[in-house]
Amino acid sequence: MEKYKCKSVGIIGSGIQGVCTGLQLIKKGIPVTIFDRHDPLSQEFKAASYGNAGHFSPYAVLQFNRTDILYDVPKMLLSSYGPLALKWNYVHKLIPWFVSYLKNFNKESMLHTAKYMHQILNLSNDAYEEIFKEIDISSLVEKKGIIYIWTNKNLKSRQLEIKVRNDLGIEQKLLSQKEVLELEPNLKPVFDAGVIYESAMHARDPHGILKKIFKLFLNKGGKFIQENITYVEQKNENKTIIQSDNKLYEFEKSVIASGAFSKKFTEQLGENIPLDTERGYHVHFKGMDDLISRPVIFLDRGFGMTPMNQGLRAVGTVELGGLKNPPSKKRIEYIIKCAKELLPQLGNHEDEWLGFRPTLPDFLPIIGPSLKNKNIIYAFGHHHLGWTLGAVTGKIVSGIIAEEKTNLDLSPYSSKRFN
Ligand SMILES: Cc1cc2nc3c(=O)[nH]c(=O)nc-3n(C[C@H](O)[C@H](O)[C@H](O)COP(=O)(O)OP(=O)(O)OC[C@H]3O[C@@H](n4cnc5c(N)ncnc54)[C@H](O)[C@@H]3O)c2cc1C
Repeated sequence: MEKYKCKSVGIIGSGIQGVCTGLQLIKKGIPVTIFDRHDPLSQEFKAASYGNAGHFSPYAVLQFNRTDILYDVPKMLLSSYGPLALKWNYVHKLIPWFVSYLKNFNKESMLHTAKYMHQILNLSNDAYEEIFKEIDISSLVEKKGIIYIWTNKNLKSRQLEIKVRNDLGIEQKLLSQKEVLELEPNLKPVFDAGVIYESAMHARDPHGILKKIFKLFLNKGGKFIQENITYVEQKNENKTIIQSDNKLYEFEKSVIASGAFSKKFTEQLGENIPLDTERGYHVHFKGMDDLISRPVIFLDRGFGMTPMNQGLRAVGTVELGGLKNPPSKKRIEYIIKCAKELLPQLGNHEDEWLGFRPTLPDFLPIIGPSLKNKNIIYAFGHHHLGWTLGAVTGKIVSGIIAEEKTNLDLSPYSSKRFN
């Protein structure tokens, strides 16, 4: 019997989820068109997949629905100068997300998230390695590990992280302050200890990598249309429509990979999914990337630095404030202050950037068919780990579309959990 093949797919979003999904579909011989309001090859493209910290972090199973920070969250929210911030004009809009978040603030949910993040994170590097065989990643990816450092102030949290990762069999090497400094001698010793994930990789330019994957997609016959998409619908069993500002397009199946902007479409499809955004920022210190050899994340501060081709990228903070509020100067100042605490030799910064992590209250992504529209597939909500999970999400979503069998348990990623 001939294998089932879908005849056409439209994807909304050319971030890392959309581009990797497009590539995997094209490789299966399925015609694909990706839509985005910004061309990923242009300078206007500033999505989360452009400005992130570039960590490929297969070990990062614990998320923010973790019991140890229950009492710290209100304190952090009230402080205007910490790793977590709130835009007060957004509080009323955040309520559905926050109510659901509180329901997920327990040990059972924390371990459920860790288990099912681990299931896909564990496959994430191999999925990228497959793609990297087809593109030139020299000067774009480095394999020198990733270091996390901390002070002795929140040792209970550090112990929890270490235990959960040990229980899942994740390799980690604890480091004394001295051992961290042997690896990163320029750091000011304002921390007490750390851990290194030795096999972790980092991107020296996430946008550069995304562009290469996108070009590979185009070279294999994929199409791209630069349009703002306003509407999506499943018309019948074999027809979905994607409506732009200018035109209506028809595909057998459609994929929503619009990151933090996906909620508009899920509402049109009749699903009430509490997707919101954790806003994050970056700045560059040009020519300073050789001050560290690998990413260093200061856990107490909720910030990190990655050596990149654009300079030393200082990245971080979580700001709850929706998609429309302007960037906060205070958040940028916070990141700069944290960077200079660790590397006082840093000078002026450039390139202030605000990005939108797409986050669900249980910190699992949504990957799978829409509940009411089986030919529309969701691929969003990857929060802090969307860069790491891009390639594996592409494989999973393309497998769903091609109706392939999988050994993975995909039920925890279904939007059913919110309906
Ligand atoms: C500060 C920061 C640091 C991060 N660091 C890391 C890290 O180190 N490691 C990691 O794994 N993850 C990291 N992340 C998370 C990661 O960047 C995101 O989870 C990931 O990039 C999301 O990818 P995406 O494809 O889902 O969405 P996006 O990259 O946001 O792409 C969505 C695309 O959809 C398009 N779109 C949306 N709506 C429409 C519409 N109506 N019409 C047309 N186009 C539309 C947008 O233009 C955009 O290009 C970080 C995020 C931030 C903000």
